[in-house]
Amino acid sequence: MNTSPTEANRNFSAWQKPTLRYLLQETDTFVTCVELVTSRGTITERDGRRMLALARKLTDNPGIHALSITDNPGGNAMMGADTLGTDLISRGQEVIIHLSCKDWNRNALQSRGWQLASEGFNNILALSGDYPTDGYHGQASPVFDTDSVGLLKMFTDMNAGMKVGTGKRSQVLQRTNFLLGAVVNNHKRYEREVMPQYFKLKKKIENGAAFIINQIGYDSRKQDELLKYMAAHKMRVPVIGNVYVLSRVAARFFNKGNIPGVIVTDALLNLIEKQAKSKDKGKAFFLELAAKQCAIAKGLGYRGVYLGGHLRYTDFERILKMANRFGEDDWKDFATEICFHYPDEFYFFEPDPETGLSSTEISREYLFSKRPDALKAAKQTIPLSYKINRTVHDKVFEKGSWGFTIGKRISQAVDGTSKTVKRVIHGAEQAVKVPAFDCRDCGDCSLPDIAYLCPESQCVKNQRNGPCGGTRQGKCEIGEKDCIWARAYDRLKAYGEEEKMLDGPAIFKDGALKGTSAWSNTFLERDHHAHKKSNS
Ligand code: SF4
Repeated sequence: MNTSPTEANRNFSAWQKPTLRYLLQETDTFVTCVELVTSRGTITERDGRRMLALARKLTDNPGIHALSITDNPGGNAMMGADTLGTDLISRGQEVIIHLSCKDWNRNALQSRGWQLASEGFNNILALSGDYPTDGYHGQASPVFDTDSVGLLKMFTDMNAGMKVGTGKRSQVLQRTNFLLGAVVNNHKRYEREVMPQYFKLKKKIENGAAFIINQIGYDSRKQDELLKYMAAHKMRVPVIGNVYVLSRVAARFFNKGNIPGVIVTDALLNLIEKQAKSKDKGKAFFLELAAKQCAIAKGLGYRGVYLGGHLRYTDFERILKMANRFGEDDWKDFATEICFHYPDEFYFFEPDPETGLSSTEISREYLFSKRPDALKAAKQTIPLSYKINRTVHDKVFEKGSWGFTIGKRISQAVDGTSKTVKRVIHGAEQAVKVPAFDCRDCGDCSLPDIAYLCPESQCVKNQRNGPCGGTRQGKCEIGEKDCIWARAYDRLKAYGEEEKMLDGPAIFKDGALKGTSAWSNTFLERDHHAHKKSNS
């Protein structure tokens, strides 16, 4: 029997729920997703059995559209998502599998993609991932061979029918049918964090993200702003609002900054501490807060909610029932109530004086900071080394410049000589780049992509396609260093170039170039800069 693509996406047979793709792309259903965090140990452990029982109950509820299973969250080893996921899809449940880049390189991710597609999983949430915090006999080493953008691009190519092998042995593989999702962390404090997150969101969508889930947050104005920013920048993909159900323990944990990128302000924590003194330890308050957030998400125009937290099945039921009982406009009051942010929080848009939410007028202060006189002043604060690096790049490494022509000739001559000559030239390059940039000799240089900051030595996740979501007030989630992408934003903004900082195709570092001259690789067009030009 022939079925249309729409029919195939529906899966309305007696035992299967409609697909997430169908719900998001062909209906206006407000979808409900629940996040399941797998446990440690096998499924037969107490925690594993408990999670399986919860997941099966959620599966039996027709109002729960998708169950989303995490991938070693918090940088810890947990049971793989497939064990739980396979059981659930066999019961007709839509499942979203999280896939992060911290524990797998690109080959392992690709292989995992084929495995997931073969097992019947179609919904993937692509993440860079949390930095590992734990491991057997010491902390595990992170991989980060690619990132969320690279992962999206690779899976998009798999959806298109990927060509593998070379020459006579090459073949085009069958298309996978992944619905790819990505995360945006819009709940950031400073402009130098918020704006790069928005730019990266655009890059994720360009590379195949077909739905977005935003990071946990308790600021309705920022929730509103995200949708308005996306509309203003023609990012037309459905967004699912994250609703993490707090407890006192979780709120304290978040307030201390223990989960990268998740913020609970002091004002919200104070409220929670007060509520937690009640007889039920604040339980009713927490469930109501979550129900109100669901109503806000619906009212603002999100396409669904993404519920998370350590809850029992009955808690999920209570939240959803409560959210459904609210009046049509109640969310507006809730939105003014749930607006927890820092006093100096950056917003791209001015507030709407009537609602306290976001207007569509771009922040006057932000626009002021982009005026020529403000940029001139900003330039004074930029390190001289950056200005020199820009000039050198333009005159030597930019294709078409006189320096590039000479560099290419020299590189071609050196390429054909002995290993000793190559070693001497490479050594001279390292003598400049190690002290100047803390170069790690990767051979596929991203300095020009990140305002002359080295991702190998200064980004713990080696992020080459924009910042991960883990920063805290502009600082890296590991250690106390400023995020290189926040620093790059400051540098580029002084030159009026920050809005283009993530333009261009996804960047993949070529591991084959490690330990070779990055300068020669640029001049001989062996590195990602050459791919960038040929792809653009
Ligand atoms: S060559 Fe690689 S390791 Fe060296 S500065 Fe450039 S990006 Fe960093």
